[in-house]
Formats: sequence, C-alpha cells, structure tokens
Amino acid sequence: MDPAREGMNSSANGRNEARWIVRTIAALVLVVATGLLLRWQAGRQIVSLSGSIHETMGTLAQIVVVAPKSIAQRCVDEGLAEMDRIDRVMSDYKNDSELSRVNREAFREKVIVSEELYSILQTSVEYSRLSHGAFDITVGPLVDLWRKAGQRDQPPSEEEIHQTRSKVGYEKLQLEPLDRSVRFRVDGMRLDLGAIGKGYAVDKALEIVRRNGAKSGMVNLGGNIRCFNGSDGKDRPWVIGIRDPQDEMDYLLRLKVKDFALATSGDYMRYVVVHGQKINHILNPATSGAAGELCSVTILAPTGIQADALSTTVTVLGKGKGLALVESLADVEAILIASDDPKTLVQSSGAAPFIDF
Ligand code: AMP
Ligand code: MG
Repeated sequence: MDPAREGMNSSANGRNEARWIVRTIAALVLVVATGLLLRWQAGRQIVSLSGSIHETMGTLAQIVVVAPKSIAQRCVDEGLAEMDRIDRVMSDYKNDSELSRVNREAFREKVIVSEELYSILQTSVEYSRLSHGAFDITVGPLVDLWRKAGQRDQPPSEEEIHQTRSKVGYEKLQLEPLDRSVRFRVDGMRLDLGAIGKGYAVDKALEIVRRNGAKSGMVNLGGNIRCFNGSDGKDRPWVIGIRDPQDEMDYLLRLKVKDFALATSGDYMRYVVVHGQKINHILNPATSGAAGELCSVTILAPTGIQADALSTTVTVLGKGKGLALVESLADVEAILIASDDPKTLVQSSGAAPFIDF
C-alpha cells in the first residue's frame, strides 16, 4: 500500500472519527437540553391539584391548589402535615398532646406552654368575653357528661349537672402572660379546643400553601374553609355549597368567596341521642344543655379562626343575639338556619354579595 495514501486514509479516518464524536456529543447535548427544557416547562406549567381526602383533627381535610406543577403536590402535602402537627398540639383525645398535658396537670401546678398554645388559649378567652361566656373552651366536662348520657341513653341527673357546672367557666382558667403558664382554679376542669382549633389549623395550612409558592388555594377542614386568590389562579371566586341540614346529599345555597374564610357549625354531624332526642354537640354553658335554636350557622370572616370561633358562638347565642353580635363586628357575615324552620335562610345585612345565584 502506498504509504502516502495510507497516511491520507488514516488522516481521513481520524477526521471522520472526530466528526462522529462531535456529532454524538452534539446529539447528547441536544437530548439532555430537550429533557431539561421539558422538565422546566413541566415545572412552570400551572396545574390545579386537588389533594386526596385526609383524616385529621377528628374530621376530614382537603386542600386544592393552583400552582406550578413542580410544587403543587408539595403545597398540598405540607399543608396537610401542618394540620397533623396542630392536632398533636391541640387534641384533647391524644394523651401525648400539649393540651392533654395541661388538662392533666394544670390544677396541681402551673403548666408552661408553647407560644402557639398560649396564643390560642388567649384568643379563646377573648371570644368568651365577647360573647359573655357563650363561647367557652372549658366546656370539656360538660361535653363528657353529655357523651356519657348518650352512651347510657339516660339524661344526666340534676346532681351530675350541678357538679359538672362547677368545673366549667372561663373565669376559672388562669393565664399568666409573664411566663406563659396555665392554671386551673378548680379540680376536674378540662379544655376542649374543638370549636376553634380547626379554624386555626386552616389558617396555618393556607399560610404554608401560599408560602410554598401556590398561585391560589383552598383549605377545607370539616367545613372550616379558607381560600386565597381565585379558583382559576386569578379572579374567579371559589364556590362553596352550604349543606341542607336535612339532606346530606343536597345544598341549600352556594357562596362565592375569595380571600376569605367561612365555617359552618351544624347539629347534623355530631350529636348524641338521649331518649330518642338529638342533643347537639354544641352546649350552652349558661343552661348546661344543648344549643338547640339553630341547626346550621355559617360565618364568613377574614380568617379561619374567627369564622370557627364565631360559628360556635352564634349557635349558642341563637338567632337574635347571634345576629346582633355579627352585625357589631366588621367584615363578619352570617347565614343561619333555625331548627324549627330548616328551609329558610336568615342572613346578616352584608351577606348578599357572597351569595351565588
Ligand atoms: P364547632 O363544630 O366548631 O361548632 O365546635 C363544636 C365543638 O366545640 C364541640 O364538639 C365541643 O367539643 C366544643 N364545644 C361545645 N360547646 C362549646 C361552647 N359553648 N364553646 C366552645 N366550645 C364548645
Ligand atoms: Mg367552631
């Protein structure tokens, strides 16, 4: 073979090899770049994600977010995890919760609590003062009394009611801001945050969803709902149905809300039956009996904690005093259904703009 030609061939072979390597690298770069681009686009793609139903705080939770696809699931998961965390602090069922420790120890000695628990106890007492005791987280012993009455199908005796009353009353709860301590003035007291904790949890979960970068979102925890921005990520309000108290498959009206919270307290979800009579789980501390005048109270308010606390408060106060309280508060509206007229809606003076016809 001609060495010159051979040299030529070998240099041509070398050039071909070099070209092949360059083309392969270019192709690889293109594949990687396309993959990255697709992932980037997927990350920026805005999706509406409705998380699956999650059991927490003795009820069901759901979070809906409009968010970039890459973070939507995280928004939902971290929002739900936040509610679980709050349950571990505020549950009166879980023995190892911070609240249960207070319930066990606060009569014997003062209990220093977290800022979070202290703050919700303080807020609860503010609602007690506002409602002259209609809202009262010290109802725990009364709730127990009626639960036992339901189990044995026998109303509590006068004596039992008398004894229980002595353990109920927010003025018997001593809160000391200097060291954030809690103390019970009477033995056997028990705090129950069932009327305010869920609204608080909704606020905290929504804060997490928002902080994680969602464009909009809605958190629902057993009828305590709060949303921010529109259901389309822009301006369209979220539409929420108010359940017909007599038919769980139907709703009586729809509300449209944006950047607002609402909570419904009803006598149809939780109650005990004694001698065939339904006893609402919301109790009137003044009578020690069930709050029976209203079978559904929906409160619209800027935050979940306000809506939750006030829906329970208005249920206890009844239609007249309840509406008067709502009218006295800025940015708070109510839609009530009376137990003896369950197809008629009673609304506060500023509720109309929220109603979706
Ligand atoms: P809600 O569903 O938010 O109205 O809360 C009802 C729960 O709050 C009940 O299941 C009780 O645990 C508790 N509760 C009952 N009566 C009262 C009351 N008068 N004030 C505060 N909490 C109450
Ligand atoms: Mg409530």
